This record gives sequence, C-alpha cells and structure tokens, in this order.
Amino acid sequence: METKIYFDNAATTAVRKEVYEEILPYFMQSYGNASSVYTIARKSKKALEKAREQVAKALNADTEEIYFTAGGSESDNMALKGIAEAMETKGKHIITTKIEHHAILHTCEYLQKRGFEITYLSVDEYGKISLEELKKAIRKDTILISVMFANNEIGTIQPIKEIGAIAKEHGIYFHTDAVQAVGHVKIDVKEMNIDLLSLSGHKLCAPKGIGAIYIKKGVTIHPLIHGGAQEKRKRAGTENIAGIVGLGKAIELANEEMEKNTEYLIFLRDKLINGILEKVPYSKLNGHPKDRLPGNCNFSFDFIEGESMLLLLDSKGIAASSGSACSAGSSDPSHVLLAIGLSHEKAHGSLRMTLEHDNTEKEVEIVLQELPAIIAKLREMSPAYQEILKKNK
Ligand SMILES: *Cc1c(COP(=O)(O)O)cnc(C)c1O
Repeated sequence: METKIYFDNAATTAVRKEVYEEILPYFMQSYGNASSVYTIARKSKKALEKAREQVAKALNADTEEIYFTAGGSESDNMALKGIAEAMETKGKHIITTKIEHHAILHTCEYLQKRGFEITYLSVDEYGKISLEELKKAIRKDTILISVMFANNEIGTIQPIKEIGAIAKEHGIYFHTDAVQAVGHVKIDVKEMNIDLLSLSGHKLCAPKGIGAIYIKKGVTIHPLIHGGAQEKRKRAGTENIAGIVGLGKAIELANEEMEKNTEYLIFLRDKLINGILEKVPYSKLNGHPKDRLPGNCNFSFDFIEGESMLLLLDSKGIAASSGSACSAGSSDPSHVLLAIGLSHEKAHGSLRMTLEHDNTEKEVEIVLQELPAIIAKLREMSPAYQEILKKNK
C-alpha cells in the first residue's frame, strides 16, 4: 500500500518545495568548490556564507559560531568527543541523560571505554530531568553536561535555560542535542546559555546528510574529521553546498513560520491525542502533556504489539512508528519508554505519530477512524484482553 498519510516526521521529513527549488542550481550550474578563487566557486562561497547567517540567525548565534556537518549524529559525536579530547586534562566526567538519542548514548559508551566517566540522569514519568539531580551529579572533574532539547520519541522538552544557568554557574560546558527542536521550538543560545548545539537538516524539511553544530566563541574543541582547512579547521571536507543551502533555507522558513505552524500543529496534535484517548480504552499518552513538541503524539495501548499496529496502519497507507523492540531492530523496547517507567508490555504497545505543517486535519480524522478499528481488531485476538472483557461484564 502506498503511503498516503505520513505521520512519521520525527524520523525524517519531506524536503519542502521552496527548499528543493533553492537547492537545484547548486548541482549543475553553481557547482564550484567554495575554496577555489574563480567566479563559479565564489558563488558557492557566497551561498555557504548566506546559509551560515540563516542558521545563526535562527538560533540567535553569531555567524562565526556555526559549523556545517553531515548531520545530527556527526554533530553529536563532534560535541562529545571534541570536548572530551580538548578537556581531558581538566577532568573526565560527563553528565547526560538516560533518554538521549543513540548518537549521544553510544558516543558516551565509546568514551567510557576510553576512561571517561558518564553519569546518566534519570527522568520522571513525563520524561523530564530533575534539576536537583543534575546539581548533585556535578563534580570537580565534570567537563560537559549534554541534555537533549526535546526527545525524539515522546516529545518532552527539557528546562534548557535552567540547565544552561546551572552549567554556567559551575563553569561547565553545556551541549544540547536540539535535532528535534530546531525549527519547531524557539531557541536562543545566548539567553539559554548553550555552549554547543547539534541540529540536522532532514528533521526540518531540508535534505538528509546535512547538519550543523553551534560552538560558542571561546569554547575549545578538537575536530572530529581531519583534512583540509574548511570550517575554520574544525570540520574538514569539501562543503556540501546544496545541502547547506537547503538547510539555510529550511531553517529560515521554519523560523519565519514558527508561530503559525506551532499553533496549527498543536491543534492537530491535540485533536489526535484527545480523539484517541477518548475512543480507545486502555490507552495512555506518553510524554509531557504540555511541554512537548508541537507535532508529537506518543501512546501506549495495552494488549497490543506495536509492530502489528504499524503493519495494519501501513496496509491503510498510514506511516507511523513504535518503540517496540522489533521495529527498533533490537531485543529490548525503547530505552526512553523504559526510562519513564513503562513496563516492557506497555513499551511494546507504543505508537508514535509525528506531524508536520503539511499534514492536514482531514488526515487526522482518517487516522481517528482507522486506528481505533485496528486496535479493536488486534485486541480481539488477545486472550488477555478477552479475559478483561469477561471480568468487566
Ligand atoms: C535524528 C536525530 C539525530 C540524528 O540525526 P541524523 O541527521 O539522522 O544523523 C540525533 N538526535 C536526535 C534527537 C534525532 O532525532
């Protein structure tokens, strides 16, 4: 079945038409290497610097504080490994959370093997860290705090400004993986005391394989990729001008339209959330009821396997995702859902639907028709559910 309703925008987004059109000339006309001196190269250089300004403006950063990378994972690796290497004579302790993206968690595991100590902060039932726990975790040898801005599974937004203030007070660098937040939530790196921030193009309607990292002036960091002198020697490699142009355009559009899109997405999101909770018994919303990404819905349905739900939704042309083990390709269900205290069963029965500005109310209405029917059908085959029905009679 061809996908007709795409509700998996936290996994990746379609490239916006305006972005696509902006990018096209950089493949066959303005293809020069930005490091060369002739006219066609100067065009690339100019496009590169314009995009840098667009990204900087969206974060309230300075233009020189933006470095382009090949995506969110690279930016996360660069932040953690780059700070770890630059700061290891000062200390080898890093604080992060249990609910980070694997680009952070697996980088932390790697650093642990190289002698760094990592503290993983827990989260409450809504996915929020505790500022008190953070303060208690800080040690003399703590060199970095890395807390994601908004979670990719449950959408919970962390108290970033408060975390930034604590980091600053203790003279510790603060990195945030803002891949899900950029373009969807207002970000001001100065006001929020952020020292490093990761972002990715394909989560905000730019192409895949392009990202950026904000590094505050004065922060010492080692490069991840060595080679040419691009990006002020912090990230070698001939610049992906088309991707960079797309990222600049997408972030500019997202910021211009943020107020309007946020209002619209919250309307769609809450219609979907309220509709599902009303229509489906034994269902629950995961993540924070208010401090969550405007487009994020995440549910747990008792007596259901996430994977079977996804397949039946797909057969209706609806794309969504689940924190169940099979869909994540591992034996354990989502570490995020376990961290907010869900049982393995509830985590297996989870469903994430993430919306973008190009989704419609009509699509939400269709899902509100199809999904409860799918769940009812699956529960008909569940002995545990039939038991409950009998008991309740
Ligand atoms: C998608 C994502 C990443 C990885 O970004 P890529 O550009 O796909 O490498 C990192 N962190 C979060 C929170 C994400 O959602």
